[in-house]
Amino acid sequence: MTYRAPTRDLAFALSEVAGLGQLRGLEPFAGFDPETLEAVLDGAGRFAEGVLAPLNRSGDLEGARFENGRVFAAAGFADAFRRYGEGGWNGLAADPEYGGQGLPRAAALAAFEFVHAANMSFGLCPTLSEAAMHCLAAHGSASQKAIYLPKLVSGEWTGTMNLTEAQSGSDLALVRSRAEPDGNGGYKLFGQKIFITWGDHDCADNIAHLVLARLPDAPDGVKGISLFLAPKLLVDGAGKIGAANALRALSIEHKLGIHASPTCVMAFEGALAELVGQPNQGLAQMFTMMNAARLNVGMQGVGIAERAYQQALAFSLERRQGRSPWASEYPARIFDQPDVRRMLMLMKAKIEAARAICLSTAVAADVAEHSSDAAAREAARLREELFVPIAKAWSTDVGVEVASLGLQVHGGMGFIEETGAAQYYRDARIAPIYEGTNGIQAIDLAGRKLALANGAAVAQLLADMRETATQLRAQKLDAIAPPLDAGIAALERATRAMLDKKGTAAALAAATPYLELAGDVAGGWMHAKAALAASKLESDYGKSKIALAEFYAAHVLAPAPGRLAAIESGAGAFAAITPSQLGA
Ligand SMILES: Cc1cc2nc3c(=O)[nH]c(=O)nc-3n(C[C@H](O)[C@H](O)[C@H](O)COP(=O)(O)OP(=O)(O)OC[C@H]3O[C@@H](n4cnc5c(N)ncnc54)[C@H](O)[C@@H]3O)c2cc1C
Repeated sequence: MTYRAPTRDLAFALSEVAGLGQLRGLEPFAGFDPETLEAVLDGAGRFAEGVLAPLNRSGDLEGARFENGRVFAAAGFADAFRRYGEGGWNGLAADPEYGGQGLPRAAALAAFEFVHAANMSFGLCPTLSEAAMHCLAAHGSASQKAIYLPKLVSGEWTGTMNLTEAQSGSDLALVRSRAEPDGNGGYKLFGQKIFITWGDHDCADNIAHLVLARLPDAPDGVKGISLFLAPKLLVDGAGKIGAANALRALSIEHKLGIHASPTCVMAFEGALAELVGQPNQGLAQMFTMMNAARLNVGMQGVGIAERAYQQALAFSLERRQGRSPWASEYPARIFDQPDVRRMLMLMKAKIEAARAICLSTAVAADVAEHSSDAAAREAARLREELFVPIAKAWSTDVGVEVASLGLQVHGGMGFIEETGAAQYYRDARIAPIYEGTNGIQAIDLAGRKLALANGAAVAQLLADMRETATQLRAQKLDAIAPPLDAGIAALERATRAMLDKKGTAAALAAATPYLELAGDVAGGWMHAKAALAASKLESDYGKSKIALAEFYAAHVLAPAPGRLAAIESGAGAFAAITPSQLGA
């Protein structure tokens, strides 16, 4: 089925829910007006529909190839990547000094949804490049920026993130790759990295690898990790490409999904590299890159969910089975079967909640970076920090849940590869795993983020939610206000419980149910804002937003406080369980 970019929903979510208006008046965005946003969304939508979506199925079937030590992307990907770069899509939010368009990150993230929805495997390549740009812009030297950023922005080169090693996944303190001074002010890298996304390919002239490794005599653990930049082909001081560097892909993985995205085992065999930033600060620097990438991965969840939803909706209008209380003809469209319509509503309601959470996080990131008001910058930074783990984990869980519902709507045909629904499910499944598993995101939220500014970040969030609930009551949106009130009260109680347990096993055990509750309630808050804006619209579109908000209130918000039991019981039920009791 073809993909149709939901540009109107994105524009609505950005303007009416995520608070894009906060960027008005910020100096770097002086030229960013509603017409520009419309042009960006329309252009990105057309590119995704016309160029990327047609390669999604063929890319899944063909996959990336490893032949004679080289990695080849599936047919059509190199050309699509060239066109993507030429269209300026790589550099939407990048600094104009390096060829970027200097648009808000929120606008770039919105455009990314279309890319991920159309072709998640493809979207990973610019996702990693964008993260690399972000990292170099923040921590690179003047010459690293001057040489690498224009090439990454134009798409002539791509970027990768080399963290994971066989013994070092979630726990990067275990990284063993090492860097030795090369005697010329640079370094030689040795070690093996696994699972490196787009680690090698034939779609660009060069690849900039950002690599975590240890300097000689570096302290153990995370405090001894440094960040290096090693190009696939060596680059001289003028940015000219030369001989091959001493690094290569050893193989690519055979995976459940995202078959067209090459996932490489990379060997660094004395590869010449430059240090990025300060020695032993690699992890902190990499976090700049990871935050941007985490938000982008959250948007992958939204994109793949939207794609699955569109296909399920179309199928539900064609497939006929049984009698329906809502239709006179027999057999009725399954769209008219109440349980199928419930699934479709759940899919769309969760997508819109997750989309708005991700976009709100991006708006906060833009304000945090560019506001001239220090207090506004700090408040936005706290909101961004608090929301990143929710945006990543909750939205990618939504991606899997919605893709699974998409299969269910198809019945048996969903399980058959030809329909394409199965691919979305397979592709969606990686997003809760990479960029920090969702379990690690939950621990980050419960441990570090709740404590931000002595709890002021989460307190402000709860206050903002309550303010919206007050507005709901004033507008007589009575189906939404009580479940939102109950959700906020539950989140407040859960937050207190988590802060009381901070640093204990009980807090670690309750972290995921806490993140799920926070996501459910934040999603309800987003729907409430959408309903408030929609109540001013006298249109079917406005009515649909209110219907979705009411649905979400009844089906997601109302049961959400049920998570309190798991949060408050902490590790109680399973702290003492042994492997043998569990059947090992
Ligand atoms: C397709 C794909 C692409 C990838 N791309 C990249 C890439 O480009 N660059 C890169 O560097 N890496 C990449 N990765 C690696 C990815 O980021 C890791 O797989 C991920 O961080 C998890 O690490 P792990 O696989 O070692 O799992 P583990 O860390 O072994 O985790 C296994 C399970 O234990 C849980 N767990 C582990 N530690 C804790 C803890 N302290 N507390 C609670 N739970 C814990 C995890 O949540 C998980 O459920 C990719 C992986 C895949 C599969």
